[in-house]
Amino acid sequence: MAAIIDGKAEATAIRESLAERIRARTATGARAPGLVTILVGEDPASQVYVGRKQRESKEVGMLSELVTLPANSPQSELIACIESYNARMDIDGILVQLPLPKGFDEAAAITAIDPSKDVDGLHPLNQGALFTGSPGIRPCTPISCMHLIGTTGVDPHGLHAVVVGRSALVGKPVAMLLLERDATVVLCHSRTSDLRAQVGAADIVVAACGVPELVQGEWIKEGAVVIDVGINRVNGKLIGDVEFAEAEKRAAYITPVPGGVGPMTVAMLLENTLAACVARERAQEGV
Ligand code: NAD
Repeated sequence: MAAIIDGKAEATAIRESLAERIRARTATGARAPGLVTILVGEDPASQVYVGRKQRESKEVGMLSELVTLPANSPQSELIACIESYNARMDIDGILVQLPLPKGFDEAAAITAIDPSKDVDGLHPLNQGALFTGSPGIRPCTPISCMHLIGTTGVDPHGLHAVVVGRSALVGKPVAMLLLERDATVVLCHSRTSDLRAQVGAADIVVAACGVPELVQGEWIKEGAVVIDVGINRVNGKLIGDVEFAEAEKRAAYITPVPGGVGPMTVAMLLENTLAACVARERAQEGV
């Protein structure tokens, strides 16, 4: 039976540590890190995510702002809003809640964010930095996956890792991070011919395909580490991309849904915001 990787507890510990580090900063007269979240439209799931980001950023002592724009706003208004926060010295992180309503150009919005404030790590410059292995802001959900793998004590070095899903948001960056840690990485997607065989060979499985329980429990190799990124609402219940009940019998470590990767993503967003604050201060001081 697998040990459950408790993402909720891990996220709580990260937030407590962040609150302590921010308290230590402000006690010396330094300013609190600032995060703005921009929400366009009224998608209920996005409103929940934005509410959580607002609440948790305030709880750790950050300056936290929320901008809401109507779904029928012109793209130019969104860009102007992003640019106004690019110019604000007290704001270190700009997060445009995705997905944007129909008609918006998401890529243009992300590219408008100052890369040093792109705490979601989705700006092409930060994605490029990840690809080339140079310093930059790494995307929140992928670093959450790596952090959770880290809590197991399993070192990806030399292991066989299989990522299911190739989105720019999760699959591709998590594959790059695993590669950075010297895993041998296979990146699977909707056209992969024998997913069962691929998953069956994996010491580490990261499932991020958005298909409820696509990764069947009996595919999992005995002793594998299983990270389930999926969040699927089925009959009012949250279900992952892995068939948890069976996978748990074979894996050594597994994340639950909910309570695994989900709570970690906001904690990592806050980590990125503090890191961006420190990096921007250093750049301003010319260190
Ligand atoms: P996406 O729809 O952008 O990408 C899905 C990927 O899965 C695609 O690359 C596709 O090729 C692959 N895929 C789809 N069907 C497949 C199949 N049958 N076999 C193999 N591959 C298949 O999704 P995303 O944004 O990467 O999100 C993936 C999942 O992770 C979703 O459930 C999403 O809700 C969840 N998610 C969770 C968090 C979090 O904080 N925990 C963050 C982001 C996304």
